[in-house]
Amino acid sequence: MSYQNFTVETDADGIALVTWDMPEKSMNVFTAEVLEELAAILDATVADDAVKGVVFTSGKSTFSGGADLSMIRSMFSFYNAEKAKDPDVAAAKLFELVGRMSGLYRRIETNGKPWVAAINGTCMGGALELSLACHGRVAADGKNVKLALPEVKVGIFPGAGGTQRVARLTDAQSALQMMTTGQSLTPQRARAMNLLHQVVPADQLIEAAKQMIRDGLKPVAPWDERGFKVPGGGIWTPAAAQLWPAAPAILRRETAGNYPAALAILKCVYEGLQVPFDTALRIEQRYFTEILRTKEAFAMIRSLFISMQELGKGARRPAGQPKTEFKKVGVVGAGFMGAAVAYVTAAAGIPVALVDRDQEAAEKGKAHAGETVKAAVGKGRLTTDEGNALLDLITPTADYGALSDATLVIEAVFEDRDVKKAVIEKVEAVLPDGAVFASNTSTLPITGLAKNAKRPVDFIGIHFFSPVEKMMLTEVILGKETGDRALAVALDYVAKIRKTPIVVNDTRGFYVNRCVLRYMAESYNMLVEGVPPVMIENAAKFAGMPVGPLALNDEVAIDLSLKILKATVADLGEKAVDPRHLDLVTRLVETEDRLGRKNGKGFYDYPPKPAKKSLWPELKTFYPQKKPEDVDIEVLKERFLATIALEAARTIEEGIVTDPREADVGSILGFGFAPYTGGALSYIDGMGVKAFVALCEKLSEDYGPHFRPTPLLKEMAEKDETFYGRFDPYGPKHLAA
Ligand code: NAD
Repeated sequence: MSYQNFTVETDADGIALVTWDMPEKSMNVFTAEVLEELAAILDATVADDAVKGVVFTSGKSTFSGGADLSMIRSMFSFYNAEKAKDPDVAAAKLFELVGRMSGLYRRIETNGKPWVAAINGTCMGGALELSLACHGRVAADGKNVKLALPEVKVGIFPGAGGTQRVARLTDAQSALQMMTTGQSLTPQRARAMNLLHQVVPADQLIEAAKQMIRDGLKPVAPWDERGFKVPGGGIWTPAAAQLWPAAPAILRRETAGNYPAALAILKCVYEGLQVPFDTALRIEQRYFTEILRTKEAFAMIRSLFISMQELGKGARRPAGQPKTEFKKVGVVGAGFMGAAVAYVTAAAGIPVALVDRDQEAAEKGKAHAGETVKAAVGKGRLTTDEGNALLDLITPTADYGALSDATLVIEAVFEDRDVKKAVIEKVEAVLPDGAVFASNTSTLPITGLAKNAKRPVDFIGIHFFSPVEKMMLTEVILGKETGDRALAVALDYVAKIRKTPIVVNDTRGFYVNRCVLRYMAESYNMLVEGVPPVMIENAAKFAGMPVGPLALNDEVAIDLSLKILKATVADLGEKAVDPRHLDLVTRLVETEDRLGRKNGKGFYDYPPKPAKKSLWPELKTFYPQKKPEDVDIEVLKERFLATIALEAARTIEEGIVTDPREADVGSILGFGFAPYTGGALSYIDGMGVKAFVALCEKLSEDYGPHFRPTPLLKEMAEKDETFYGRFDPYGPKHLAA
């Protein structure tokens, strides 16, 4: 029998080698068809007496990335359609649906013939769960081999037996740690956790897997054997009595109770370990059905899985533009940002001309990239040879002539209109026709800068975030005259350096910084009201923000905040900023010399390591302090999320951001907006625009007019609309635009 996604070859020993290799896909993923074919293969191998055992592997360089978008999306649309008819029937049908994968894996586990997973590359999610249902697991040794159950990162959990099998192979603490964080394991770590039987050199993988079968591997999972004992002894042991009472508290400390899926993992393991395996699978299935119906799962899967992939694959790329081949990228300005941009560009295999005012400055930038390479080699992310090859791609120079064969030039010189103007002119003098010029400015509107260019149609903004090596987002900014080709080149470049782009129209602060400034401004408001600083920071973290607003301000630099406030006054007048904010920041910078982390003094004190930073005690003397019991922490949380979400809504209303996916993904990747909400607009859609408008009205009465809901929000509340409904990214209007 032949299959679309698999090949099956049975050798002389009766070992069937099942190779998963989906046509026209760069990575194997689970789809409904894949599961059907897998079931058919199982039936065929069971029925065929000549088959003694099965080795399951992948024909791609990775093993599998787990579930496919289309499968997840169809599950949600199926459930939502059914729910509209009858919610109870819908839940029952969803329960049945989510049990299919788990049921198939259990059939593999109990089929009577040994199966061995031969893991040749990254193996994630449902693919690792499949491997765990095999009787043997061998992985190739190599940097490219990572094993993970990362479902919690998109609001769900391993629901195809993962919670039960991991917790029966390794101790409960390691199992919980692995699944509640979604961390990646090296083959060695997975072997040490007893999740693998062997780790072997890549070229011996299949042979080692086959040998396990030839050596008489028993086709019975340990938990199906009589007398099976859970590692560590299960729930009713002294060790478990140490672990289990603390586990929910630790989880709460890490997640502030915002992630129902993480808690469900604890429940699955705790309850599942006390019952027979098939009952445990049913417990998992019930919790999985419950979690899939949470708004957190829906929003996180949409933003962090589906939208992120779609944007990464060029959802906003204009049609009809040829794919860009990057012969060379020029980076002008070899400072803090330029050096990092050169690094990520070279890491993508593109030659870079790194230009600065003189050779020495350019060399300094390359040396900076060298430091990053050194750190990556130290952490084992690059080999020394790879690091050297990367650095060889970066040519430091003061000669603009080096840009004459560049496909794209990115400038990262001082944030000064005149300096940038001079650089644009110099670059244009040598840049070949058709090459694109991008600015990494963080505050200067692109349309204004493009006025200095001869070909504004080829002028665009590519806004990076610091630290560039780590931050996954880039904001691509369209000036009024930016053309489709420039956009295509920018998006091809962002894809090449493996970051996620959002495309926004030109405005002061673009999208991300506009939202971030609101976050920091609200913390200034709270300080001025006398809210204790520690409550401000904690409330933000309880709301799901990864970094408190005061700590963030220290990272960004408080003198930069002052500069931005002053520039806003200069450009838009005094009314454009809150004088109390200006007073606070001026006092910090000009009187107290507190610039942030960079001079070791900001809202926090930064003592030498290993001591930890702590809030500057004097900050409490700036304003009369409220008693903690008089401050409602829930309201503080709402204020942070609402002020950012309102700003995101404004950017949509103004036509700055045109696609809700970009507002959501940009808010999570750009500044960590409470990921469990699915992003700034999903936060509004999740509670309903009507409820959000009511919340904003209440907040504006209590805390000021900056919370007033906008006309668009009011109209949407009246019509009972959502952002994803009104600005449907898949709708005909949007696609035509
Ligand atoms: P920086 O001061 O570290 O680096 C600027 C570099 O530009 C210096 O090496 C300087 O020698 C060089 N330079 C100045 N004039 C030049 C000229 N005429 N020709 C060639 N080189 C010249 O500054 P930075 O922090 O890297 O910022 C650079 C740009 O990136 C700014 O526009 C800034 O707004 C933007 N940006 C910064 C950040 C950040 O976190 N620092 C984030 C996003 C964007």
